[in-house]
Amino acid sequence: MPDDDTNTDGDEYMGHVHLTVPPGSKPLLARWLGKVDVGGAEECWPWTGARTSVGYGFLSVRTGDRKDNRKVTLQAHRVAYELFIGPIPDGLTIDHLCRNPNCVNPTHLEPVTMWENLMRGDTLTARKAAQTHCVHGHEFTPENTYVKANGCRLCKACARDRVREIKRRQRHSRSSTA
Ligand SMILES: [Zn+2]
Ligand SMILES: [Zn+2]
Repeated sequence: MPDDDTNTDGDEYMGHVHLTVPPGSKPLLARWLGKVDVGGAEECWPWTGARTSVGYGFLSVRTGDRKDNRKVTLQAHRVAYELFIGPIPDGLTIDHLCRNPNCVNPTHLEPVTMWENLMRGDTLTARKAAQTHCVHGHEFTPENTYVKANGCRLCKACARDRVREIKRRQRHSRSSTA
């Protein structure tokens, strides 16, 4: 049942996005922010940079210092997930809840494939499903909860805060690198 959504055009992916950032080059976050049309929490955020033939945004990142020209291509939505949500568990693919391959809104993305396994036991995911409040203490009321395709819940108050923070950083990174 692997979902091959993200395996496009032979893109290479290094695992997690915490790569060495060569001195003097723009950090990954700033580069990512410079190529995203950030909207509201429920809107799709189009990637304005390069895209694969099937519509996934990507960016190339150097893996070593300036003398070392090795680069990897990172998928923009996977970078979004890792920058704003957390490391993508090994072997999982990032699914677009909105079915829009060019969208990089972190709240529209989720890792899939091992879900059934996770729900069978007393795992972190199963415990999360039993929680009544998010990690920041907001209650999971129907009004304050997005229910994702896999049953996972997302706190709307936190999603809004996250979007506000992303917009703030984007403004900051634009004004400081202009
Ligand atoms: Zn979307
Ligand atoms: Zn919350």
